[in-house]
Amino acid sequence: MSSTTEIIHSVPVDPLTGSIAVPVYQTSTFVQEAPGVNKGYDYARSGNPTRKALEDIVTKLEGGHSAYAFATGLAAIDAVAKLLSTGDEIIAVDDIYGGAFRLFTHVYQKLGIKIHYVDTTDAGNILDYVNSNTKLIWIETPTNPTLKISDIQQIAHIAKSSNALLVVDNTFASPICQKPLSLGADLVIHSATKYLGGHSDLVAGLVVTKNEALSEKIKFIQNASGGILGPWDCFLVIRGIETITLRVQKQCETALAVAKFLQTHPAVDKVHYPGLSTHKNHQIAAKQQNGLFGGVLSFSLKQDESELAENFVSCCSYFQLAESLGGVKSLICQPSKMTHASVPRKKRLESGVQDSLIRLSCGIEEARDLIVDLENAFSTIENKKEVLV
Ligand SMILES: *Cc1c(COP(=O)(O)O)cnc(C)c1O
Repeated sequence: MSSTTEIIHSVPVDPLTGSIAVPVYQTSTFVQEAPGVNKGYDYARSGNPTRKALEDIVTKLEGGHSAYAFATGLAAIDAVAKLLSTGDEIIAVDDIYGGAFRLFTHVYQKLGIKIHYVDTTDAGNILDYVNSNTKLIWIETPTNPTLKISDIQQIAHIAKSSNALLVVDNTFASPICQKPLSLGADLVIHSATKYLGGHSDLVAGLVVTKNEALSEKIKFIQNASGGILGPWDCFLVIRGIETITLRVQKQCETALAVAKFLQTHPAVDKVHYPGLSTHKNHQIAAKQQNGLFGGVLSFSLKQDESELAENFVSCCSYFQLAESLGGVKSLICQPSKMTHASVPRKKRLESGVQDSLIRLSCGIEEARDLIVDLENAFSTIENKKEVLV
């Protein structure tokens, strides 16, 4: 795992001026000494020094060959999907991020790419769909919002023996908890909007590649399609990364404390958190996440009523009611009415997203303050229940 020291010192000092912060090169073009003779940059879509600094830092953070920064996490996902041609197939985790599902289903399927959604928590399920057209195996672990865990190493073996590439969306774990390339993945994706940025103040995405051949392809797509991240946002992501170790360690500790509190609460039905020994794939998470289980967890209420959950998420004071995750401020949401509102109810229930499921993203507040906030919310809905009766 990269140490705080390594991460901080992967941020370069500007060789031109000695500036300890990476300068924001807010420019569209670079003056040439003679036609075709330049200092490594000619046009800002093809390359920008601030973006290059971010890409190099994330390459080190994930232990990759190269990284490429995009305007959003979805633009990063789109760049990887563009590796495919008509007739190719993807095997993807059935709990995939909703935006990726929308992109695959409504854009890439139309172009003749077939997508099979399978429960990858049992790697054997993947084998049922592998054929000579399978080009990508696409997983998220932990998944959103029920924190299911898939075994990266085992799936990497399947990918290798099937001549497919393994793509891991590492947004939920962050590179502090999990390094998929070291476990055999070929490509890593981040929505830097979440833990890399870490302050809920931007949207950004990254693709990290394992080798030179993949790097050349993604670099080509980045320039050809042009969905790059602007220099100012690159600067902000770099600034976020400088404190990522401290933030994520704290967020993981807090999430575990909150999960343990919820597990003992009489109004709670299920708690989903890979750090609990009761989680189905706790052992795999412990192995591949270096003992850090992430800052996101979810839980359902014994009384599985949408209205109760709605009351709960609306009456917290530190947990702000909002989509997204990974920032310094704690967030709370009700997936069935927010992030997963467009998923048909039956399909939603099958994947464990009950009406009363509540997702928490722990920030860097003190765990005890967050627990008091939740205790207060439980009392409020308890009173509401009495009024209802
Ligand atoms: C948020 C998210 C994305 C999409 O990222 P944007 O920056 O919102 O485009 C992709 N994957 C996961 C797991 C996410 O949480």
